[in-house]
Amino acid sequence: MTTILFAAPKLWDDYAKTLPKALADLGVTGEVVLEAAPETVDYIVYAPSAPLQDFSPFTRCKAVLSLWAGVERIVGNPTLTQPLCRMVDPGLTEGMVEWVVGHVLRHHLGMDRHIVNPGHVWDATCPPLARERPVTMLGLGALGTACAQALVALNFPVTGWSRRPKDVAGVRCLSGGDGLRTALSGAQIVVTLLPKTPETENTLNEETLALMARGAVVLNPGRGPLIDDAALLAALDSGQIGHATLDVFRTEPLPQNHPFWAHPRVTVTPHIAADTRASSAARVIAENIRRGQAKEPLLHLVDRRAGY
Ligand code: NAP
Repeated sequence: MTTILFAAPKLWDDYAKTLPKALADLGVTGEVVLEAAPETVDYIVYAPSAPLQDFSPFTRCKAVLSLWAGVERIVGNPTLTQPLCRMVDPGLTEGMVEWVVGHVLRHHLGMDRHIVNPGHVWDATCPPLARERPVTMLGLGALGTACAQALVALNFPVTGWSRRPKDVAGVRCLSGGDGLRTALSGAQIVVTLLPKTPETENTLNEETLALMARGAVVLNPGRGPLIDDAALLAALDSGQIGHATLDVFRTEPLPQNHPFWAHPRVTVTPHIAADTRASSAARVIAENIRRGQAKEPLLHLVDRRAGY
């Protein structure tokens, strides 16, 4: 019998039925438990909110399966010697595409002018077509690629940037330091979907924000530390950046006294861009357990050295 420790007790209600069903659908005979002697555990299902921090007693464990896409809170854990898999959940991806497309269209169409119009101003300025609005996607992974493709389908000219060279249909793909500068130069909307690693911290800073078109919009559904907060606030105040829509922050919940809350050209969304959806995520976890049991390569393995 395979023992699967569900080490994210706060999420148990969502998975109590979905995970055993997903395992059964794949023919995996496993017992999902909330507690077990560590040496009897074959797989750990993990979330950053989990109390479990010491993985060393789990000597039989074949993999730690994260319910979160971002793994920065576990990837450097020195007790973790087992393979770590991150979450790539079709439901989460769908949610991120909706958030990104929704906020890109808000700024592209200038919707705020008509939604908030207390002076009843008849401003008939017509927005440009999407084909005239360059968008840059920082990060071309599971989420960045799906969002880039959705924007391409709407005719936005999309440039994407990743660590290694990529090929995504319809997207101008760039990589490396020079690639970042080219990707940002003249961009009118920039979306950050990078993981938090030592290399990605402050990717958007005074120098890189200055490369974008004047009045450009920044959307950050990635991680707070991707942006230098002080540089962003200065760029907003100078008009270099026209608006920032931020879903993630260095400290969450965003402290009440943080200047982002009061800034007239910042929209704060409370880390809701995309949630893992239990119905589809349970199938991803179950598939990896099936693979582990069949000695097949695991999906979505984290590269410890790269940090994501
Ligand atoms: P992913 O598949 O691992 O993709 C990460 C992308 O970032 C890849 O294209 C990678 O390049 C690129 N990258 C990493 N380090 C880089 C560097 N130093 N320079 C340039 N590019 C770099 O991750 P994902 O599933 O798309 O998720 C991205 C992030 O979204 C997560 O890490 C998480 O922080 C965030 N997230 C937020 C929410 C929310 O609700 N706000 C929800 C889920 C996820 P390569 O292609 O070369 O590897």
